[in-house]
Amino acid sequence: MIDVGKIRAQFPLLHQKVNGENLVYFDNGASTQKPQVVIDAIAQYYSNDNANIHRGVHYLSQKATDKFEETRDTVQAFINANKSCEIIFTKGTTDSINLVANGYRSMLNKGDDIIISEMEHHSNIVPWQMCCEVSGATLKVIPILDNGDLDMDAFENLLSEKTKLVAVTHISNALGTINPVEKLIALTHKVGAKILIDGAQATPHALVDVQGLDVDFYCFSAHKMYGPTGVGVLYGKEALLNELPPYQGGGEMIKEVSFEKTTYADLPHKFEAGTPNIAGVIAFKAAMDFITDLGISTIAKHEDTLVQYATKQLLTISGMQFIGEAKKRAALVSFNIESLHPYDIGVLLDKMGIAIRTGHHCAQPIMEHYKVPGTARMSFAIYNTKEEIDSCITAIKKAQTMLA
Ligand SMILES: *Cc1c(COP(=O)(O)O)cnc(C)c1O
Repeated sequence: MIDVGKIRAQFPLLHQKVNGENLVYFDNGASTQKPQVVIDAIAQYYSNDNANIHRGVHYLSQKATDKFEETRDTVQAFINANKSCEIIFTKGTTDSINLVANGYRSMLNKGDDIIISEMEHHSNIVPWQMCCEVSGATLKVIPILDNGDLDMDAFENLLSEKTKLVAVTHISNALGTINPVEKLIALTHKVGAKILIDGAQATPHALVDVQGLDVDFYCFSAHKMYGPTGVGVLYGKEALLNELPPYQGGGEMIKEVSFEKTTYADLPHKFEAGTPNIAGVIAFKAAMDFITDLGISTIAKHEDTLVQYATKQLLTISGMQFIGEAKKRAALVSFNIESLHPYDIGVLLDKMGIAIRTGHHCAQPIMEHYKVPGTARMSFAIYNTKEEIDSCITAIKKAQTMLA
């Protein structure tokens, strides 16, 4: 059993009053809070180690470089990548997807297909639309079933020798659906296409083994897994990253520059132009160590208990309508209450110190599917408790009377 009290004690932000009430933070799907070890790592870097990386021969530059590269090794181990050069640091999931989609602009042509799904975050829709616009490729969309599962039969029908790339989320941020990524990957490879998985919601809640999955590209953000904002990862198989053209040009990503011709640096530096978020990358290691020390399966188990408990308690509210009831779900509950706008629920809960997310969750097509303007979403992390869910349920019932 985990001691949630002891875990909560490591998160300074949680111990505050909001609008006179103890804060209940249920917006972890948007961003998690940070443990003291992560905050300390950022302060430590700027207080003692600050210098630019991969450039100077001096002591501080070397120290900053070593620590920065240590995080790369930690990411490699965290997702079980074959080589550390397959780990590219980016600004976040959005940036990672754009890096790949931008590269594919010059690798695709008219007659090629890209397949995404109806449940994607806008970050895994718009970059592919832009890629199609430039390359002439066609965007195809896997529909979902009403319970929130992907329509796998429809996916198989969309796949063909024209398919060049499939980009699908591992876990949906709007529905909580855990997609059958092993199956998606195997089917994609059968037609000779490549697959990118959006892992933004998966790395905080599930064990990810990129070699075990045999996934081609995998993207995630540090800030959704107890790490800093402005740091993300693109994992790619070495051979594929070597084929992919660079994203941004500048310092760090070159071997030699002349006005006639510039040659690019080897992986991973080819994709890391300019000075990165050094402090954030270094502190990200502390976040991954925090997860590893607790054990990702312990975290998942705790969150599953919370999802089940919240679902049961929400059912005691009249007019409750769940959005997304897939067989395999994780970390969040999305719902609407009959005749109430989710926005109004969110505003009233905030007055009672409770932070939930309301709206379209950057996934407008999925809202369109369910014909709702948005949903209310409670999303959980390792530091949340059943008592907090009780407070939230009481507050929703209160809001319901006030709005009636
Ligand atoms: C949050 C999220 C993103 C975008 O992540 P950023 O950190 O904002 O770049 C993409 N996909 C999913 C599923 C997400 O939850």
